[in-house]
Formats: sequence, structure tokens, C-alpha cells
Amino acid sequence: PPPISEATASLEAGVLAGKRRALAKAITLIENTRADRRAEANGLVSRILPHTGKAIRVGISGVPGVGKSTFIEALGLFLVKTGLKVAVLAVDPSSRISGGSILGDKVRMEYLARETNAFIRPSPSAGTLGGVARRTRESMLLCEAAGYDVILIETVGVGQSEIAVSEMVDFFLVLLLPNAGDEIQGIKKGIIEMADGLVVHKADSGNEDQATQAQRHYRNAVNLVRAKRKDWRAPVLRASSTEGHGIDKVWDMVSRHRRLLCERNQLESMRSAQMQRWFQTALEEELLDRFHEDPRIRERLADLQARMRARRLSPHHAAEHLVDLFLS
Ligand code: GDP
Repeated sequence: PPPISEATASLEAGVLAGKRRALAKAITLIENTRADRRAEANGLVSRILPHTGKAIRVGISGVPGVGKSTFIEALGLFLVKTGLKVAVLAVDPSSRISGGSILGDKVRMEYLARETNAFIRPSPSAGTLGGVARRTRESMLLCEAAGYDVILIETVGVGQSEIAVSEMVDFFLVLLLPNAGDEIQGIKKGIIEMADGLVVHKADSGNEDQATQAQRHYRNAVNLVRAKRKDWRAPVLRASSTEGHGIDKVWDMVSRHRRLLCERNQLESMRSAQMQRWFQTALEEELLDRFHEDPRIRERLADLQARMRARRLSPHHAAEHLVDLFLS
């Protein structure tokens, strides 16, 4: 195993013993962007890897206001009652754009947060989607090493963050609003294609007709898109988190999907394909980071850009020149 400092080794021991404080500190370590801290974090993640992979990983998406936090709290409490340990993570790169995180700043899930078998961590705030996704993925692995049985990863229903989350989970769940008429127009076909299951949320009593109608609409929509797997057509369920119904059905669905993957030996192959893509992304990001951090590149860039603007150098010529310089 890669060498780590004594302090990190004691974090490792704490994580493997399932200590929440150690887990929280370990996540803080992997969120740190300083080079020496990165090296420690990389060592830590590699060392705990053999203890990962047993959890059920679920991504949960939906537009702001659909009730993700409320739903995750209800589902989390349900799971904790059945004796499972639940970790909640989030991918929300919006803090960079809007200056305020959509998912991170709210006081959220206060009942779930009180459970000893629950661990809740808001999205790492600063950084690119790539950086936020990496840290969430590594946090997920740490949670698994700490013995969490279910990892719920929340994402905002906008932009590329869904794709990032769908590539780190076993089951991707999409929450929908019951006012289907308006919303079907806005919901992207891509998100339905990505879903392993959909839930018409806020299907409260008194709202049944609308919710049932929405459910029918979305079942049609599911039938119109290309299925992710031949043997699994994404179910469309109804649930109300405030009234607490439908939550058990959602978990039944996730469990059925899980059994199917296991029976057909597809869980491991799916995860190793995800790992392969993660590696590919990591490699590209690492190369680009080092490229842009290289002082020779920085020094040269302004000059080349000026020459391009003056139409004395083609972009491709400039790019080749910089890469040669980087590799020299
Ligand atoms: P998020 O932005 O997707 O995380 O949504 P929140 O969980 O913050 O919920 C947005 C609003 O919807 C809040 O006012 C919740 O109380 C409300 N809400 C959440 N779940 C339900 C539900 O099942 N039924 C109803 N009627 N309202 C809900």
C-alpha cells in the first residue's frame, strides 16, 4: 500500500473502524486542494479501496423544489429503521457559478442527521464539476470503507452534474413533479434515458388524479426512449415524502434492480466500466492541470495568443508548439 503520514494512518484506522468523526476528517482531507494534502488523500483512498464496493449506490436527481432533500430524508430514515447505515452525499457545482450552493447551504435533513447510523455531507463547494465529482466519488469510497450500506448521492436537476452522478452509481433515480402537463415539455429526454427509475413526487392524498396522470405520461415517455438495459424498463412510481407513502416501494424497486444485476453478474462489470471511465477522466484532468500549471506554458501563452489575434499564427500551430514545449 502507498505510504501515508502517521496522522493519515490514524484517519484510515478510524474510517475502517466506522468512526464518523474520522470519516468526516478524511473527507475534509480529500477536499483539500493543496499538493501535499492531495498526495496524502490519494494514498488514503488507494489504501481503503480493498474495503469498498459493498454498498448500494443510488443517485437522486430532480429540479430544485421537487423535494429531493425531503425525499432523501424520508428514504434515509426508512433505511435506517431497517437497520442499514446510510450516507448522503451531493454533487452541486453550482456554487461556482451562482456564488451560493443550491444543495449545500440549507439546513437539511435534521431528523436524519440525528441518527447514529446516518452520515450526511454537503457537496464540496468550490471547483469545477470534474473536481466536485472526483471528491464525491472518493467520499463515497470512504463511506463504504466506513461500513455504510447505502450511499445516496443527490444532484441538482441541471446541467452536466447528472451525467457525472449517473456514472458513479448503481441506480439513478429521477424525481418528477406531478404537474406533468407543464413539466413534460421541459424535462429532457436525456434524463429519462439516464433513469433506472422515476418517481412522481408530492403525490399527496388529494393530489392523486394529477399524480396518476403524470405517472401515465412518464410511463409513455419511458417507452419512447431507448432503454439503458434490455432486461430493465425504468418503473415510474408515485410517492409523497411529507405523507410518507411510496418510499418503501421505491426501495423495493432499487432492491429488485440490484438483485437482477447480481444474478446476472453485471454489477462488477458495470462498476469496472465506471472505474475505467473515471480513470480516463482523471488522466485527462491531471494532464490538463499540469499543463496549465507549467510556468513555461503560462509564460508563453500570452505571446502566442497575441500572435493568433494578429493572424500570424494558426490555433493548431500554436497548440502544437505549446505541447512540444510542455513535453520538452
Ligand atoms: P429540493 O430543492 O428538491 O431539495 O426540495 P426540498 O426537499 O427542499 O422541498 C421543496 C419543497 O417541497 C419544500 O417546501 C417541501 O416541504 C416540499 N415537499 C417536499 N416533499 C413533499 C411532498 O411529498 N409533498 C408535498 N406536498 N410537498 C413536499
